Amino acid sequence: MIVCDLCGSSAPNDEPPLTWVVSFEDSRAKHYCESCTRENLRGIEGRLDMAWW
Ligand SMILES: [Zn+2]
Repeated sequence: MIVCDLCGSSAPNDEPPLTWVVSFEDSRAKHYCESCTRENLRGIEGRLDMAWW
């Protein structure tokens, strides 16, 4: 089960929707849902690891 690390809402599938952002922090994947991504876009982008690209 994949849940948003910010608001705790769960993804409908085992894989995060394309609208979600996956950020690798401390070698652990963090998921952010669409609405959280929009609200925290600057902060999340600043922490994006190279592995994501
Ligand atoms: Zn969220």
